[in-house]
Amino acid sequence: MSYWSRLDAIFFKEANEIKNKQYDYIVVGGGAYGTSFVHRILQLSPKSKILVLEKGDMLLPEHYQNLPPAYQSVFAETTAQPWVMSDSKYNVHGQVPFLGGRALYWNAWVPQPTPAQMVDWPQDVIDELKLEWHDVDTFIGRSTTIQVNGYTGEFHDVMRERLFTNLSKIPTSDYYDRASALDGAMATLNNNSNKAWQRFAPVNVLVNNITKYTQQIDVVLNCEAIGLDRSKLGISHIKTTKGKIEVGKAKVILALGVIEAITLTQPAFKENKLLGRNFIGHFRSQVLVRVPKEAAGVNNDLLQVAALYLSGMTLGREFHTHISCIYNPREEAQKDDLYRVIPDPTNLELYMDSDYIYLLLQSMAEIKGERTAQSANYIKATNDKTEIHFSLDKPELAVWDEIDKVLIQIAHVLANGSKVEYLQSNNTWSTKVPAISFMRDYNLIHEAGVMWMGNSAKDSVTDSWGKMHETNNMYVLGGALFPTCGSWNPTYTGMAMAYRLARKFSKK
Ligand SMILES: Cc1cc2nc3c(=O)[nH]c(=O)nc-3n(C[C@H](O)[C@H](O)[C@H](O)COP(=O)(O)OP(=O)(O)OC[C@H]3O[C@@H](n4cnc5c(N)ncnc54)[C@H](O)[C@@H]3O)c2cc1C
Repeated sequence: MSYWSRLDAIFFKEANEIKNKQYDYIVVGGGAYGTSFVHRILQLSPKSKILVLEKGDMLLPEHYQNLPPAYQSVFAETTAQPWVMSDSKYNVHGQVPFLGGRALYWNAWVPQPTPAQMVDWPQDVIDELKLEWHDVDTFIGRSTTIQVNGYTGEFHDVMRERLFTNLSKIPTSDYYDRASALDGAMATLNNNSNKAWQRFAPVNVLVNNITKYTQQIDVVLNCEAIGLDRSKLGISHIKTTKGKIEVGKAKVILALGVIEAITLTQPAFKENKLLGRNFIGHFRSQVLVRVPKEAAGVNNDLLQVAALYLSGMTLGREFHTHISCIYNPREEAQKDDLYRVIPDPTNLELYMDSDYIYLLLQSMAEIKGERTAQSANYIKATNDKTEIHFSLDKPELAVWDEIDKVLIQIAHVLANGSKVEYLQSNNTWSTKVPAISFMRDYNLIHEAGVMWMGNSAKDSVTDSWGKMHETNNMYVLGGALFPTCGSWNPTYTGMAMAYRLARKFSKK
């Protein structure tokens, strides 16, 4: 028996073990939102019976940055794009079809949107999320400073102050009334007792719940939901790769990803002309910059990392920039520590020259949608394939030009007059701003919108709880519900919505 199949036998169930069992909730997808829902419903209603259907196997027990650096290479090999694009210039960042999903690899930026940014969201959702943020903070260990070996670092303060005092040089940035508002929040479990820096990932959460609530929760791996049977009340059966599952009195919670939710639901709800419309998300650019070490403004030789988050508006669109600042004065000696704490370790090998500080700057901006049956960008799924109809129009391309400029403005502000060098496509450093094709990522991220919330079936796909209007028993979690998505990273909001739904159910 292999190690993984032994783990399967300890923690997970086979399809024949769940036959004829009745559940309160059947959760499709064991990633970020499915796990948040399971965790919260068991906290609030410990007697709930839950079945989780997960398409994939157990791949990693943890977020890849909580494991040794060798695991970094696994990421590229484990993503899939089971859809076709209408315009081959673009794609959508791939799914991670394993327990834990995309959250095995996420960078863990967790900004909280302001009510003003949640344009056209139902007011009850905006109001009620206020009850959830705090508990989600505890759940994911939300923190605004990165500690390396327990030390927050003066580098963080130097960079933050520099950005704050020079905001007028970045004309599109929001107005900030205090420097601390620029701190980037991360889901790091930084606040646990031994101060170890742990990135939040769902697998441990699920496994902990399985062991704590042995009689309450069954998780079946390698069990892909491939179709839905409808009844008068909503969904009667879920067709899976391991056979048909009767829903009975359970509520079905879709937590399988945005495109995946359309792939599953659209063939069963062909008459719904809004389902799959309003395909929105973010496009993005990045530069990696190095600046002579003297620009760091600190005098010790400790590894320090700062994460800052600057939001703004340009040409009527929301955008924001993640700023990761790296001060690595001991080169290879601290590589493993750096890998663990840095928001995005993709370029780790490049951060090893102690004569420099490094700035990884990543901007993303919103793609606006149309909540009508005629929207230009949409997903169309049949039993055979899922097509994403997507292109960017001229105003959006103009926004992209603007957010590219912001990256350069921020680089100069943080360099504080020192020489700025950019990483080029041939892996050399030069003072020349890199070609646009190198800065831009044509894989869209944070896809959203296609099952947006609203008041009625005439102008939305789901109600403000995420229940599909046509059903009594099927709820959706995640970005699919967002009527608009601004530019903020969505996962913290999606988790707060999963918490809100669990609170609603636990009151009954
Ligand atoms: C590299 C990277 C960096 C990111 N960084 C950030 C960040 O810094 N901040 C942020 O807010 N967001 C970030 N994200 C996005 C974040 O990971 C997602 O928003 C979040 O994981 C979405 O949660 P989910 O539950 O919808 O999907 P997932 O976490 O992907 O989980 C979906 C689960 O459903 C399973 N599944 C799929 N189809 C089926 C099916 N048919 N039947 C059964 N199961 C199915 C999948 O295997 C998976 O386990 C990042 C994503 C990536 C890839």
